Amino acid sequence: MKKTIRDIDVSGQRVLLRVDYNVPMNAELKITDDTRITATLPTINYLINHGAKVIICSHLGRPNGQVDTKLSLRPILARLSKLLDKPISFCEDIFDKSTSELVEKMNNGDVLMLENIRFFPGEETNDEKLAKALANLADIFVFDAFATAHRKHASTYGVAKLVPTVAGFLVEQELKVFDKVLKDPDHPFVAILGGAKVSDKLPVIQNLLDKVDTILIGGGMAYTFIKSIGGNVGTSIVDNTKLELAKNILDEAKEKNVKILLPIDNIGAKEFSEESEIKRFNSGFFAEDYQGMDIGPKTIKAFKKIIKKAKTIVWNGPLGVYEYEKFKHGTNKIAKYVAKSKAISLIGGGDSIAAIHSIGVTKKVTHMSTGGGASLMLLQGKQLPCIELIQEK
Ligand code: AMP
Repeated sequence: MKKTIRDIDVSGQRVLLRVDYNVPMNAELKITDDTRITATLPTINYLINHGAKVIICSHLGRPNGQVDTKLSLRPILARLSKLLDKPISFCEDIFDKSTSELVEKMNNGDVLMLENIRFFPGEETNDEKLAKALANLADIFVFDAFATAHRKHASTYGVAKLVPTVAGFLVEQELKVFDKVLKDPDHPFVAILGGAKVSDKLPVIQNLLDKVDTILIGGGMAYTFIKSIGGNVGTSIVDNTKLELAKNILDEAKEKNVKILLPIDNIGAKEFSEESEIKRFNSGFFAEDYQGMDIGPKTIKAFKKIIKKAKTIVWNGPLGVYEYEKFKHGTNKIAKYVAKSKAISLIGGGDSIAAIHSIGVTKKVTHMSTGGGASLMLLQGKQLPCIELIQEK
């Protein structure tokens, strides 16, 4: 078990808190969704109420190591200050003497925010000088940016190597759910996998074969599997370099008594476009000039039956080309069934989460992971570098 802020005495300590304030903003630099900010309030309020001196660090966008005023954290500071009902001081340059002077003057319960850490070229290269400059500001490092846990950056991995590190409440919650699902799942355990990148998802399936009862496969990745067993997939997206591995995984699943359900039928289109003619095809029997864009009604029905009986569900990736109104039906239906089920449900990946939000059932799922890449790595059975550096209890 990893240590959290509850396990240490933060009173009077300089606490460097790494959060993920990579929020969407419009052209007028107005924050259009502050979920990522409000989600950090429990951690920040805990630190303030327990007398810590809180130094907040985040990235925003991709300024590529250069100052870009459009990606300044100032609008975020203003929003956070309002939410906390408290003034927050701001530091533009971590290397400037004025920053350490300001930190030295902080009182218990004060909050300070550092400018976008990706304005520094050393952030994404995990530069030692930048990590040291951050470490010099802090007695304790609190890691609460789960979405960055797979990246070895200066403000995530670099600083965690130099300063005693504990988890914030957001990271604690993510780890709790992933731990339960991957180490002690209630059965039947069903994984639903979709999306286009087969290479990302095959290691997930390999890792889950020893844990799950059933895997439902949809989305573009399904066509690599269907082709691997000799099906005709027309012009559907296929990763030809992964055909053998896909076939081996299907064989391994049989040996391990894990059911893998591929789509039974599909909605196909002549062109990758919403205006295209569409037709339904049974799997493996596509017309040569059509490609799979969504799962079909028979598949939706079959998947529904399995989801209904599940006690644990992991879902990552859309079941069709979710960006197009015409091909989001399968994904939205699956989102509805997952939300309706009484299972512990863990959802990762932007499109699956968007589907849950768009049909208004957010509160009905157990956990929506804030980390795309990080959650995929955990599902693949890999360790997250930044999480490994958090102290054990
Ligand atoms: P991933 O990042 O691997 O989870 O893939 C997400 C993407 O997969 C989304 O942009 C979807 O549009 C795409 N996708 C889902 N189903 C299909 C499909 N049948 N053909 C092509 N792309 C798809």
